[in-house]
Amino acid sequence: MQAKKSLGQNFLINDAIIQQIVSLFTFQKDDLIIEIGPGRGALTSYLSKLPSNLLCIEIDMDMHKYLDKYESDKCHILYNDILQTDLKSLINNYHYHNLYVIGNLPYYITSPIITYLLNSNLSIEGMLFMVQNEVADRFCAKPGHKEYGYITLVIDYYYHAQKEIFVAKNNFNPIPKVDSAVIKLTKKSNKYNIDTNKYFAFLKECFQFKRKTLKNNLRKYDFSLIKEVLEEHHYREDVRPEEIPQEVFIESFTKLNSEK
Ligand code: SAM
Repeated sequence: MQAKKSLGQNFLINDAIIQQIVSLFTFQKDDLIIEIGPGRGALTSYLSKLPSNLLCIEIDMDMHKYLDKYESDKCHILYNDILQTDLKSLINNYHYHNLYVIGNLPYYITSPIITYLLNSNLSIEGMLFMVQNEVADRFCAKPGHKEYGYITLVIDYYYHAQKEIFVAKNNFNPIPKVDSAVIKLTKKSNKYNIDTNKYFAFLKECFQFKRKTLKNNLRKYDFSLIKEVLEEHHYREDVRPEEIPQEVFIESFTKLNSEK
């Protein structure tokens, strides 16, 4: 059967890499793993051998001929669009200790899937995703790097993000145009007590025009308040947003809101 380009079907064919991915977390018997886009079962074949419960969500019904054999008491396959799936009510049927999400993601909806999971209010302990290599760099960037931006900070708010494995394009069938990488997201114990919707909207404004300084992006705010925070952390007034770490953005946001 032909791979469906429109569904981002590039199947992983290197067993050594699959084993490396699955061993990035130590899954326990009472954990629940959600796999997004199992496809022909490259990862599923290993995940289904673990003692944990496994729930796979695949949009393409045609994959059932590859996936039926993995169905068991502890492995269920649901044929649905992940972005239309009510994960919260679905996982209510399970008793589990930690929840993990794994997937060699369809590249055409990588960011929507990650945003969807971050907004889902599910307490996800860890995530492992195969994404395009340059997207991995953006998700895991550190301040001072050109890839660092809004999405980096949204992920970093909840998770430690680490690029773990570079995967060259010839490890897939069909071979995609670009190389990939596996990223590992590990939940942070968050100490901040802020309105995340408002904070993320503020971050969006900070990065509205990436080449501009923070000051120029935040013209509608009282920048003297932000300047105080910047000075405390030894940043110049003309600093660019991609140089600033999360804590300094949070402090600036908090200061602006407390002075209202
Ligand atoms: N896990 C397999 C592997 O590693 O070989 C397949 C990975 S392939 C890159 C992406 C998979 O996601 C495909 O099986 C595709 O059908 C599925 N997919 C695409 N869009 C989806 C969606 N909205 N919801 C769930 N699965 C989707």
